Amino acid sequence: MSIEEKFLESLRSKFESGKTRSIYMYPRVKYHDLLAKIKLLESSEKKLTKDYYNLRRYDIFNIGGFERLITKVSENDEGNFKIYVFLEELYGILEKAHKETGHGGRDRMIKQLNNGYANISRDAIELFLSLCENCNMKKKHIGKGVVVKPILSKDFNSRGQVDLMDFQSNPDGNYKFIMVFQDHLTKFCNIKALTSKCASEVAFNLIDIFTIFGVPHILQSDNGREFTALVISELKLMWPELVIVHGKPRHPQSQGSIERSNGDIHDMLTAWLRDNESTKWSIGIKFVQIQKNSALNKGIGRSPYEALFGKCATVGLTSETKIPKEILMTLEKEEDLRSRQSL
Ligand SMILES: [Zn+2]
Repeated sequence: MSIEEKFLESLRSKFESGKTRSIYMYPRVKYHDLLAKIKLLESSEKKLTKDYYNLRRYDIFNIGGFERLITKVSENDEGNFKIYVFLEELYGILEKAHKETGHGGRDRMIKQLNNGYANISRDAIELFLSLCENCNMKKKHIGKGVVVKPILSKDFNSRGQVDLMDFQSNPDGNYKFIMVFQDHLTKFCNIKALTSKCASEVAFNLIDIFTIFGVPHILQSDNGREFTALVISELKLMWPELVIVHGKPRHPQSQGSIERSNGDIHDMLTAWLRDNESTKWSIGIKFVQIQKNSALNKGIGRSPYEALFGKCATVGLTSETKIPKEILMTLEKEEDLRSRQSL
């Protein structure tokens, strides 16, 4: 039995024993029956109480000939609706969200799915997670139960942390280290593959980040104050006007969150390599970077990307849950997009 079949079977049995509230999840056939009924009701004059209930609950969204049940929206709130999914497509949707969040846990999954879908329950998410082989292989996180400390930094880029993760025992070509640069306030991180832990190579990669995001006032590192000081002098060689101070390596307010964060990155990378049957972690870290920045961060109550840019990260049109998959696959030109939207 495949995992998807296992998932559907346990969901069904939970459902029949009344152990789950996800009773609004219809199989495809029943879903389309209901859709046809709603369509009829919209034009019919005789309505029963139940019909009014259904009409208040459901609406129909038509895009390029594909019809979906969606939540009822008021006229001035168009576009702000959620899609009802049917049983057969549930697993695929959960799997996609799970991968997009780098094998994210329950809260990250809920956050990811809540925007687009009306009837994906917590039970279904928990069931899905309990069946993910990759997650089950993951070691239990030791840092659990650590109290989330308030954010100390007042502004983005007031404090940045640069850490190196040692991959010398598992090199990818010439790459032997992973550099993680994280902003304190937003938890936004940049991840780079390095061939050495030389201060000059670290500085060179930081310049890449700093010239896009700006430069922090304080730079700190788990690798120690001396290391940070060296990196800063290297930075100044390339960028003489730069003034930046090194921070205490064990900044008490931050340490826990950075440790959790780097552990998280490690877990996401392991999952990515396994999912993609690859050993190229220098490529994997690029995807981990967007996963990590798009995933809910409990400490700040939103994703780092949202904290920095004020909106969720888009991944082209793939994250556009309102466009059915069948349509997404057919989109090629901007003109396609326009004609679909006007439908
Ligand atoms: Zn997983």
